[in-house]
Amino acid sequence: MKIEMKFWKKLSPEQRLSRVQEAIKGNVNFFNDASLGYPASRLDDKVFPIEAPFLKDAPVLSTFVTNPNHIGCHTFGSSESAFKGTQDIERDVLNMIAVDLFKVEEGAFDGYISPGGTEANIQALWIYRNEFQKKYGAKNEEIAILASEDTHYSIPKGANLLTLDWVKVPVEMETRQMSEESLKKVVGDAVAAGKKYFIAISNMGTTMFGSVDDPVQITSVLKSFDLPFRLHIDGAYGGFVYPFSENESQINFQNPEISSITIDAHKMLQAPYGTGIFICKKGLMENVLTTEAQYVEGMDLTLCGSRSGANAVAVWVILTTYGPHKWFEKISILKMRTNWLCKRLDEMGIPYFREPEMNIVTIRSQAVPKELAKKFSLVPESHTSENEWYKIVLMEHVEVEHLKDFIQELKDWNKS
Ligand SMILES: *Cc1c(COP(=O)(O)O)cnc(C)c1O
Repeated sequence: MKIEMKFWKKLSPEQRLSRVQEAIKGNVNFFNDASLGYPASRLDDKVFPIEAPFLKDAPVLSTFVTNPNHIGCHTFGSSESAFKGTQDIERDVLNMIAVDLFKVEEGAFDGYISPGGTEANIQALWIYRNEFQKKYGAKNEEIAILASEDTHYSIPKGANLLTLDWVKVPVEMETRQMSEESLKKVVGDAVAAGKKYFIAISNMGTTMFGSVDDPVQITSVLKSFDLPFRLHIDGAYGGFVYPFSENESQINFQNPEISSITIDAHKMLQAPYGTGIFICKKGLMENVLTTEAQYVEGMDLTLCGSRSGANAVAVWVILTTYGPHKWFEKISILKMRTNWLCKRLDEMGIPYFREPEMNIVTIRSQAVPKELAKKFSLVPESHTSENEWYKIVLMEHVEVEHLKDFIQELKDWNKS
C-alpha cells in the first residue's frame, strides 16, 4: 500500500501525553468548575482517585477518570460544549480513519465512535431504511437487506429491530464467495416478491472466515435491476487488516457506490471494548435525526446516547503510538504467521480456507479432533453437531510457538 497520511502520524509519548492533557483541559472540569446541570461527573473519586500516581503518564486512563461524555455526533453541527477538548481528539481520529485509510475527502464525511460493530452496522441500516422511506415513501416490506450467508449476526439483528427482511445470498463452500448467478437469483426473487429498495452489505472480512466480498460484483448486479440501493461495508473485523496489503485495496470511498463503513477498534486494534467506528458520506446521517432530543446540545444523530470519550482517546493513542508504518509492519508479521500455518496445513493435506491478505485460517472440522479444538480453543462455526469449520485467528498473542504445538498434535492424530 502507499502510505501517504495527512492526519495519521506517529507521535512520541510526550507529544501524545501533552495533546491529551490539553484536550482534558478543554473539557469541563468537574473538580473545579461550577457545573450544576449535568447528570454527570468524574468517576467517583473514592473509587477512582485522580491522584493515583500511575495516571500521570497514562493518557487513556486519566481521560477515563475524568469521564467525558461524547454523546452525539461531532462531525455535524454543534456539539455538547462541555467536552469539546476530547471531542476534538475524536474528530482527529475519525479523520485518520476516514480520510487517510478509507480515502474520503476531507470534510465530506460524518461519523462517530460507536459502542461497537453491531451498533455501527445497525446505524447504517437505520440511515438507509429512513432514507428510502423519506425519499421514495418506501414501506418496510419493500426494503431488503442483501448480504451473504457468512455475514455477521448483527445484520439479522438490525433487520429484526428495523422490521426489514434480510435476503441471504449463499456462498460457495470452498471459496466463501457469492457467485454472480446466486446474487442475481436472490435479487430477482426478492424483486418478484415485492422488494424495491436494497441495502447491500459487503463484508471486508467475515467473522468466521475473514472472507472479503467484492463490492463491485454486488453493485453491478444491483444496477442491472435498475433499483435504488445503498452499499455499506462491514469492516468490523478486517478494517485494520485488509487495507494494509501489498496490493492497493479498492474497498474505500474512492468507489462512489460505497456510502458507509463499520470498523471495530476493539478487535485488531486492541482498544477497550465499547469501541467501534461508524463512518458515512455527508448528507446521510440526518436521516436518523431524533428531533425530540432537546436537552442535548447539538443534534441527536446516533443510535446510542451517552458514550465514553475515553474510547475515542484510546483509539487516538493507539494509532499515534504506531503510526501507519509500524501498523503496516505489525499486520505484515501477523500475515507471515498466517502463511506459516497455511504452509504446514498444505504439507499435511488438511483442507482450510484463507482469504489472501487476511489473518484468519478456517479449517474443515473433519480434519481436527474435537479434543484438540478444545485444547487450543479453536472457535467452531456452529456450536452444534453439524459444525463444519474451526477457525484460528492470528492475533498478536498467537505466536508460531503455539502454532507449532498445535500442528504437532494434529500430525500425531492424523498418523494414529
Ligand atoms: C465482530 C463483528 C461485528 C460486531 O461487532 P461487535 O463489536 O462485536 O458489536 C460485526 N461484523 C463483523 C464482520 C464482525 O467481525
